[in-house]
Amino acid sequence: MRTTPANNMDVKRLNRSNTLRCLLTCDKISQPELAQKLKLSWPTVLQNVKELTALGLVQEVGAYESTGGRKAKAYAPVRDAKLAVGLDITQNHVGLVLVNLSGEILRYTRKKRVFSLQEDYLMSLENLLTDFLEEGEGEKLLGIGVSLPGILDETGERLLYSHALDIYDVETKQFSQYLPYPCIFMNDANAAGFAELWKNPEAENLIYLSLSNTVGGAIINGGRLYTGNNLRAGEFGHVTLVPNGRKCYCGKVGCLDAYLSAKVLASYADGNLAQFFERLRDQNQQTQGVWTEYLQYLAVAINNLCMSFDCDVIAGGYVGAFLEEFGGPLREMLAERNTFERSGGYLKECSFKLEASAVGAALMQVEGFLQTL
Ligand SMILES: [Zn+2]
Repeated sequence: MRTTPANNMDVKRLNRSNTLRCLLTCDKISQPELAQKLKLSWPTVLQNVKELTALGLVQEVGAYESTGGRKAKAYAPVRDAKLAVGLDITQNHVGLVLVNLSGEILRYTRKKRVFSLQEDYLMSLENLLTDFLEEGEGEKLLGIGVSLPGILDETGERLLYSHALDIYDVETKQFSQYLPYPCIFMNDANAAGFAELWKNPEAENLIYLSLSNTVGGAIINGGRLYTGNNLRAGEFGHVTLVPNGRKCYCGKVGCLDAYLSAKVLASYADGNLAQFFERLRDQNQQTQGVWTEYLQYLAVAINNLCMSFDCDVIAGGYVGAFLEEFGGPLREMLAERNTFERSGGYLKECSFKLEASAVGAALMQVEGFLQTL
């Protein structure tokens, strides 16, 4: 993830932040090794390590065997010194995840809660959080990242609209007033895309296609989320896939969402997506036909994204979670559509499944902490 320093103070802060980021990727490391990795001077690294130790984020864990001179001290990150919660609000469920400074998932749960803006629902969020956190975790909490299926304004203070939740122009304060920690609000697909970026920090450009009950996506450009002029970038669900095609919930026809939402598959299994794949596992013929058609549309969508953005595409969301097991034929379809070479390698499997948006929202809190350290 890229950050550009503006002045000396920022450079100092960036160096310290990078020192911690580097430490977080190691089990233990010596100061000279750290200096080499960061391309910083020994005194700078020593000063950073001292400051990070004072903050309780780094600890000394013995010394390396001497090769002649003085023994080099070994340092390790205190990964659980700070924690963040991700809260994923969907139409029928609430997902909660707890991550540490390395982005490791310490706990995840998903509860059935039918969304409403009524007080009893909002209060149930607070209760879920209280039950979720164990003793002592509250004091370490940086805050909560809240993922919502809708378009938020630039400040995250207003949810401009959410078809999925059927709410329009709502202040996010309505949620945060029940959550006794600092809150950051994010679009669900952007959050999931951010989680995937965290797993692939070297990725400069990446497209995330979220195949859940609605279809959305995120565009990572130059290591950052690209949000567009109106914060609507990556709304792949409403790209036209079939002119004059099926009716979409947005009011238009032929949108990608009408062909690739998880609901399309679930509708063939009493609204239960897991049941659909259970039938596919049992080689039910009708289910196989539906799945093949779905994959053909998905191949068009993924190929279009690859041709537009010239980068890997990660397919995630509820359906994405099943592609590892059932997505075999998709590679061949993608290879056939590839204009430049016969390969479907531009599709990458997702690192996260149902928990993706919750994790990404929590990581936004961690990222905020690392940037302002
Ligand atoms: Zn639409």
